[in-house]
Amino acid sequence: SENLYDLLASRFPANRSRPCFLLPDGSEISYGALEEGVGRLASLLIARGVVPGDRVAAQTAKSPEAVMLYLATLKAGAIFLPLNTAYTAAEIEYFLEDAEPRLFVQDAVALAAEAAAFAPLAAAIPRTGADLASIIYTSGTTGRSKGAMLSHAALADNALALHRIWGFSEADVLLHALPIFHVHGLFVALHCAFLSGAPMVWLAKFDEDQVLAGLARSTVMMGVPTFYVRLLADPRFNREAASHMRLFISGSAPLLESTFAEFEQRTGQRILERYGMSEAVIITSNPLDGERIPGSVGYPLPGVSLRVAGGETGVIEIKGPSVFSGYWRNPEKTAEEFTDDGWFITGDVGRQDADGRVWISGRAKDLIISGGYNVYPKEIELLFDEMEGVAESAVVGVPHPDFGEAVVAVVIGQGDEAALIAKARERLAAFKAPKRVMFVDELPRNAMGKVQKNLLRERFKGLFA
Ligand code: ATP
Ligand code: MG
Repeated sequence: SENLYDLLASRFPANRSRPCFLLPDGSEISYGALEEGVGRLASLLIARGVVPGDRVAAQTAKSPEAVMLYLATLKAGAIFLPLNTAYTAAEIEYFLEDAEPRLFVQDAVALAAEAAAFAPLAAAIPRTGADLASIIYTSGTTGRSKGAMLSHAALADNALALHRIWGFSEADVLLHALPIFHVHGLFVALHCAFLSGAPMVWLAKFDEDQVLAGLARSTVMMGVPTFYVRLLADPRFNREAASHMRLFISGSAPLLESTFAEFEQRTGQRILERYGMSEAVIITSNPLDGERIPGSVGYPLPGVSLRVAGGETGVIEIKGPSVFSGYWRNPEKTAEEFTDDGWFITGDVGRQDADGRVWISGRAKDLIISGGYNVYPKEIELLFDEMEGVAESAVVGVPHPDFGEAVVAVVIGQGDEAALIAKARERLAAFKAPKRVMFVDELPRNAMGKVQKNLLRERFKGLFA
């Protein structure tokens, strides 16, 4: 059978007393305990009427039991549907109506306790590679969340590729501080650890003290860029604090070049940036052994074909074994996001250089058209990020009576608006230079550290009205 659970379990350490979860209170949960918990929960799911193809939805606190529930769902042949813990009851209603799960779990710990009365399910329910393993709702950064359907084969293929290219082995210890309702924390991180039979320093969330303590016994950390920004803001984070680590990986949102540079200066280590999305898990990665270049997301993964539509810079399209099987109950949207010849249109704008490296310049939906000219926000953001007094910037287009859209730079920092605009003008064509600079204390971000430009557009839509 091609059940993903069989692949993962086949790599659990032969010595099942090896730890899987290393918890902050000093206790451990072994691979044997994980396997047993998964088996019991799988039996419970089946007893509750879950049959292959059913959805099991989970909006649970991050815990080892929540991971067991994920694996038990796979083992029972059902489809795992994790939901952001921040969603309100009203939001959850939409997802439950859309996905119609057989079961909706909010307390994985209680369910695992109940499952203790069941005998562990011996063998995983057989699945083919094309059967669905999970539905992941996208982050909703550009609009309403869509349910990306991921098959057992898609997840297995991506996991095996990442495990190989990032050099994972049983000697690794993964620091896991990401949420587990998204591909990053759920698939990318967990699968790399499971395929290595390696332990994880398991943190419910990113907490400076716990992360610093965890780094001393870890070898690899996966994070969103905000994690690295927060580490750098802590004076205790230095070369010594990172000395036990062989690899820091970043993704889910663009890593600022300044963060990359400061990180290298502080620790002597170069963050490995990769690029992915709910619809395809990981698509490109900087190399483990070759050069990691700030600003580039690296090379397409083995087996991934990548092309840029319409010119040197354009929307990135991909084909490959990890591409999703379509949007859940949304064939129209699925049809829109694939070309006639079967390429998935990522919606991210970028280019590929002669060496094959990919450079992302933003999302197609964030492209600004001002006075008929295309303006790529990233170009202007890079310029502002270098200006004195600017910690970070986000450039958006807002309605303008003459230009259609006007370029607005929202910056964290302070300074003289006219002076910053004048400085931008020195380097940029007039149509690209922001018409206004708005100073803010913080940029709105979602759980994965993505800047929510739709909120900025909404907030500043009246500037030129
Ligand atoms: P929605 O599709 O609902 O608008 P979303 O695209 O933010 O939300 P995800 O699938 O969680 O939902 O995120 C994927 C997106 O994250 C990618 O399309 C890309 O824009 C961005 N991303 C991920 N990694 C990187 C990276 N290293 N650099 C730049 N952008 C990245
Ligand atoms: Mg998306």
